[in-house]
Amino acid sequence: MSYDSDVIVLGAGLVGSAIAYGLLRQGLTVTVIDEGDIAFRASRGNFGLVWVQGKGWGYSQYAHWTMSSAELWPELAADLRDETGVDVELRQDGGFHFCLNEQELSERADRLAWLQHEIGPSYQFEMLDQAALKEKLPGVGAQVTGASYTPMDGHVNPLKLFHALHQACNDRGARRHVNSHIDQVHYADGRYTVRSSQGVCTASRLILAAGLGNKDLAREVGLHAPIVPNQGQVLIGERVAPFLTHPTIFVRQTGEGSIQIGDSMEECGLDDTTRTDVLAGIARRAIVCFPQLADLNVVRTWAALRIMSPDGFPIYQESPTHPGAFLATCHSGVTLAAAHAFRLAPWIAGQPMPEGLDAFSGDRFLDPKREFHHGH
Ligand SMILES: Cc1cc2nc3c(=O)[nH]c(=O)nc-3n(C[C@H](O)[C@H](O)[C@H](O)COP(=O)(O)OP(=O)(O)OC[C@H]3O[C@@H](n4cnc5c(N)ncnc54)[C@H](O)[C@@H]3O)c2cc1C
Repeated sequence: MSYDSDVIVLGAGLVGSAIAYGLLRQGLTVTVIDEGDIAFRASRGNFGLVWVQGKGWGYSQYAHWTMSSAELWPELAADLRDETGVDVELRQDGGFHFCLNEQELSERADRLAWLQHEIGPSYQFEMLDQAALKEKLPGVGAQVTGASYTPMDGHVNPLKLFHALHQACNDRGARRHVNSHIDQVHYADGRYTVRSSQGVCTASRLILAAGLGNKDLAREVGLHAPIVPNQGQVLIGERVAPFLTHPTIFVRQTGEGSIQIGDSMEECGLDDTTRTDVLAGIARRAIVCFPQLADLNVVRTWAALRIMSPDGFPIYQESPTHPGAFLATCHSGVTLAAAHAFRLAPWIAGQPMPEGLDAFSGDRFLDPKREFHHGH
């Protein structure tokens, strides 16, 4: 069978699905091809934060991009609810970043001051000492030195988000080809051809949104994506009575009362198995933050792989050699879902590039004079 559409999106994780949704809203026909449940999928193992504070320190274009996504999030949540009936449980009335010693707290204050200087007064934050924090979050432990608070942060139910995006794409007529691992892309006469398990797909535009798969696929269309897996382990605690009104960087309580505790960061290749020592460290830190968690029963644990570039910032680029081929990858696909649907997709569909997006070209990693440090 042969399938023709305006765009082929390779990868149906949160990034590919948000872009596909945005492209469908632009009136384009879309085929989404995905490897399926055997794949590594950050989208089903994350922490669910829509997080702005601290993001883009030393790289203000990323701070702007993240802010813009947080601002668009209420619209995304409302549209997904109206279109699919799925409530992704967006709660966006501020979040806390805990600091466990004085040095962390003072570095945090410097970082957020730098970001506010770059972004302007809309970048609001408060630094809280132990007493001020305790007033806002009474359950906080005595060993927490303080925290930063910003009103623009929030959280969602990430699995409902994943489901709602898939549902919205289906409802808008996306063709979905699953269980198809793609390792070759053909380009001739302005058209891309990809062979999936369901047939041959053709389109004049191709989006590589295949998470860790983008590294190899990028080479097929003259792009460069030197991404690596970065493992994060997470614990889920039983449902308990509401005690945590806002998300924090290490602990959040879902609408149903479950406690999500995260997360580690470790480069250990394509390994998505949990380790007791890592989980124990995460649990210990959570108990420092909220001593009442010492009695919590853990019901589930998992590890998932982030998609990390050498500087930790996203890669968005159209191929210089293959017109109409784009690559999109990032390590904050929940936070950035709204920017992907409402700002990135229109650009891919032919509108002008959003301001500042040229800072995210993968070619930055080819510059031998640039040094890369992990930022977030
Ligand atoms: C522990 C943890 C906590 C996190 N917490 C947060 C958070 O709080 N907030 C936040 O914003 N982000 C968070 N993230 C990051 C977020 O989950 C990811 O940025 C996002 O899920 C990436 O989505 P993706 O679509 O790029 O990749 P993936 O979810 O990995 O999806 C890629 C898809 O591409 C498909 N694919 C791959 N290769 C091929 C191929 N060759 N052919 C066909 N299909 C292919 C796969 O089947 C897969 O479905 C976290 C991640 C982890 C691991």
